[in-house]
Amino acid sequence: MKEQSDIKNTEVAIVKGDTPKETVLKGIEILGGIHKFIEEGDQVFIKFNLCLPTGFPTNTNFDVLESLIASCKKAGASKIYAGSFPFKGISIDTISNLLNLKDYFSNIGAELVFIDNSNVFKEKNFKKDQLNEIKNKSFSMVTINEKEYLVPKIITESDKFIIVNQVNVNPLFKLNLSLLNSYSIVSPKYQEIGSNENLDNDYISYDQYKNDLISNILDVFTIKQPNLVINDFFYLLESAGPYIYRDSNLKKTGIAVIGNNAVSVDLITLKLLNIDIQDYDLILAANQRGLGIIDPQKINLLGEKIEDNNIIIDLCVSKLKDINLKNLLVNSGRFCSGCYKQAYHLLNFMKTYMTKDLKYNPNNAFLVGQNPLEPEHFKNILLFGDCAIKSTKNSNFRKIEKILKKNTANQKKSKKLKKSGSQKKEKIKVKTNKKILELPGCPPDILDCLELLIKYYGKKNLPNLSFYKKILETIVNPKEKENLRVMGVI
Ligand code: SF4
Repeated sequence: MKEQSDIKNTEVAIVKGDTPKETVLKGIEILGGIHKFIEEGDQVFIKFNLCLPTGFPTNTNFDVLESLIASCKKAGASKIYAGSFPFKGISIDTISNLLNLKDYFSNIGAELVFIDNSNVFKEKNFKKDQLNEIKNKSFSMVTINEKEYLVPKIITESDKFIIVNQVNVNPLFKLNLSLLNSYSIVSPKYQEIGSNENLDNDYISYDQYKNDLISNILDVFTIKQPNLVINDFFYLLESAGPYIYRDSNLKKTGIAVIGNNAVSVDLITLKLLNIDIQDYDLILAANQRGLGIIDPQKINLLGEKIEDNNIIIDLCVSKLKDINLKNLLVNSGRFCSGCYKQAYHLLNFMKTYMTKDLKYNPNNAFLVGQNPLEPEHFKNILLFGDCAIKSTKNSNFRKIEKILKKNTANQKKSKKLKKSGSQKKEKIKVKTNKKILELPGCPPDILDCLELLIKYYGKKNLPNLSFYKKILETIVNPKEKENLRVMGVI
């Protein structure tokens, strides 16, 4: 099942063009033409970005997909499949219905694959054992480094595998490159990293979350290495990403990098975007595992020259407080990449879609990580993640002190007592602060956090989020979620 790409003959093309479509086609030509990658009668699987029911640039540019599919057909591919696992909890069927993807792919000569089987189980009320039967038919369990991954058979059984990756900024890895893209050939359940149950300090110090994530991404990458890799950053989201947020900016570079090895294609992309590879731990780990070359001298570079293209982009903020939300102070303690990534997305979601909500509910403090700085005089305190919740169990803000009325009413009397030399102590009652919202998880799930926010503030006080919840309900259906769970997808 594992295929080792021919590392010694690594070829990468840097291409510039007037449109994304033209650029990608030009790149394939420079590399020797599509016949070099696709043979007559091949079954081809194209892995693209299909994160959310939104368009480009959250997902892959459809113009690029269309031209690639046409090329594969021209080369004689017998069947062309396209697919990916989306964001946790969202089915491919939902995205397909909203974007009309099934018909779209069929019209351009390919087939959208419902690798989560969501097109099947929505048809009728399947029983659990029937769902399990579908699961066994469509997936195989692959063990790598003693870890198990449920992989769609249609991917492993395809003759050729192509990754078409939309490059955007990414909070954990700086950029969404093709190695990261390949991770979503397994379902969100198998992408998850085990939690730090004992909230061990070393887990945070060594950023075990990120180390485990990198190791899993590379394990999955070895299941089916691509024959052709396209990093499309003709347009890319900079500043905030990889999804469309308020602080995102669409930048045009006019460039794509295409080649026969994902590690080397990612390396050249990093070079072009002025990112030091020493800061891109995923590529260093891939090189250590012998999955690709990271020395540009050993790569057969074609097309444009790296030194002629010096592109500077704005990356995601590295400090959560720099997301800078109105009426919400962010205090961070010690945290690992798990909470950083999830908090980054939640805060950007709030900044983008909850501006009125934050305006109507001032004085919020958002605490994340172990032992965050104590906030003073805040109306609402949001504790994000198990570390923040457990490490602040005895913090001062957990209690509020109230001076009993009886004492204030007796002020005249006490003045007299003071005059006469005797003093009465004020009585202070200590109560539990109920204006605290705990968002549990290691790290927390974003959709769960949105539910908890509505419960805590109340629907009326969150008009924006209440509106988006209605939209989310059409996207994340509870019955469908249950089926996805049985299917082993979430
Ligand atoms: S709660 Fe958050 S910061 Fe703590 S170990 Fe888990 S993911 Fe890391």
